[in-house]
Amino acid sequence: MTNLISLINLIPLANIEVRTQQLSTMSGDLGINRRILLFPLPYQGHINPMLELASLLHLRGFSITIFHTQFNSIDPTKHPSYDFISIIDGTTSNHFEVNNFPSRFVEHNNNCEQPFYDSLRKYLSDNKGVTCLVADLHWYKIHAVAKRLGVVSLVLRTGSAASLRWFTSFPVLRAKGYYPLRESEKDELVTELPPYRVKDLIPMDKCRIDDFAMLVERDIEAAKNSSGIIINTFTAIESDEIQKLHQELSVPIFSIGPLHKFTSQFQSSLLPQDRSCLDWLDKQAPGSVLYVSFGSLASLNYEEFVETAWGLANSRQPFLWVVRPGSVCGTENVSMPDGFDEEIRGRGMVVAWAPQLEVLAHDAVGGFWTHNGWNSTLEGIWEGVPMICRPFFADQMGNARYVTHVWKVGIELEGKLERRIIEKTVRSLMKEKEGSEIRERMRVLRKNASECTKADGSSHLAINKLVNHILSL
Ligand code: UDP
Repeated sequence: MTNLISLINLIPLANIEVRTQQLSTMSGDLGINRRILLFPLPYQGHINPMLELASLLHLRGFSITIFHTQFNSIDPTKHPSYDFISIIDGTTSNHFEVNNFPSRFVEHNNNCEQPFYDSLRKYLSDNKGVTCLVADLHWYKIHAVAKRLGVVSLVLRTGSAASLRWFTSFPVLRAKGYYPLRESEKDELVTELPPYRVKDLIPMDKCRIDDFAMLVERDIEAAKNSSGIIINTFTAIESDEIQKLHQELSVPIFSIGPLHKFTSQFQSSLLPQDRSCLDWLDKQAPGSVLYVSFGSLASLNYEEFVETAWGLANSRQPFLWVVRPGSVCGTENVSMPDGFDEEIRGRGMVVAWAPQLEVLAHDAVGGFWTHNGWNSTLEGIWEGVPMICRPFFADQMGNARYVTHVWKVGIELEGKLERRIIEKTVRSLMKEKEGSEIRERMRVLRKNASECTKADGSSHLAINKLVNHILSL
C-alpha cells in the first residue's frame, strides 16, 4: 500500500486533472481503508477550496465524507464518489451583512455544535477507519467537538497566509490602538504587519470588535490545537508569510495551493453557471475582454452599479460582467440601466454566474476586474490575468494590497466608483503602457506559480507531506 501511495505522490499537480478519472478508479484498487471527514464553512469561497481538497485527497486514495449545513447546502448528486452528511443547522436567513461576518460565523458555530456532535458520534459508531477531520479555520466549535469524540482534526485556511498572520497579530494590533481604524491614518504602514497599511486591515466597527476578537481568538486556538494547518497558498507568492507562520504557530503547516487545480467548479457551484458566455468569448479577439466579477457576497449600491455599467460601456472595451442575484444591495434581481443593453450589444455580456475558472483560462480574456476574494485572486494569478482591484470587505483589502504593491500585477481602483474613473482604469489596464508592464510582471508571476506545482515544486512536496502526515495519524 505504501508503495502505491508513494507512486501517486510522484504525479505532479499539473497532470492531475487529466488523471483524476483514472486515479479515482485506482483508489478503490489500492484498498486503502482510510476515510477523511471534511466540513466546509457554508459559503462559496470556503466550499470551493474544501471540495478541491476533497478531490485531491480522494485522488491520493482516501475515502471522503463531507459534512455540510442545510444552509447553502452542497448537492451530493454532483459528487457521486463521496458520502455526504447533512447537518440540520437551523440557519434561516440567507441575508449576509458583509461587515457583520464575525457574528454570522459565531452563529454558525453555535447552530452546528450539537447537531454535529450527534451526527459525528453516530457516524463513528457505524463506521471504522476514520483518519481525521479537516474543517474550515472558522469552525472552532466543530474542531472542539471532534477533539471531544477523539477525532484528530486539521484546519483548512481558505484565505492567504498573510491574512492568517493578520489574525495571529490581531490582539497586538488592538492593544496598540489600531482599532477602531482611523481615517486620518489610513495610508500609514502597519509596522507590525507590513506591507499592510491601516486601510488594508479588516475594518470592524466598535460594536462588532468584541465579537470579532472572540472569533479570532477561538480560531487561532483551534488552529494551534489542530494536528496541522492546510493553507491554499504557495511559495511563489507568499514565501515569507508562510515562513513566519511556521515560526509563530507550533503546528505543521502545509501550503498546497492553488487548490483549484484539482476539480471543476461546476461540481461545487451553489449557483447555476451560465456557460453561454464561453461561446461568446470564443468570438472575441485574444486578450481583448475584461472579465468583471465581485464574487459571491460583495454588493454595490444602486448608484455604484449604474456608474459601473456606464464606466464599462464607455470604455469601449469588450467585457463579461457577472451580476448575480444580490449584486446590488436591497434588490435580489436588478435590471440593467435604460439604454445599456443597446449600447453594449455585441461587445459586452452580462451573466448571473460564470464558470469562472474556464473564463479566466480563455484566450479572449485579457483583464480581470475583481473584488480580490482569495480564490479569485489565486485563480487570476494562475491564469496570468492582470487585475483591476476593487476590494469590498474582510481580507479583500489585504489581498488587493499584495496584488497591487507586492506582486505589482494589478491596478488599484480607489475612491468613489465613478464612470469616468472606471473608463480610464479599464483603458489603462487593457490598452496602455501601465497595463503592458503589469501584463509582463503577471507573465513572470504565473511562470513562478506553475513551478510550485511541478513534481519537485513546493506545493507538490507539501501535498506529499500532508498525505504522509495524515497516514501517520
Ligand atoms: N465564482 C464563480 N463564478 C462567478 C463568480 C465567482 O464560479 O461568476 C467562483 C470563483 O471562481 C471563486 C469563488 O466563486 O472560486 C468566489 O470566491 P472568492 O474567494 O473569490 O470570493 P467570495 O465569494 O468568497 O467573496
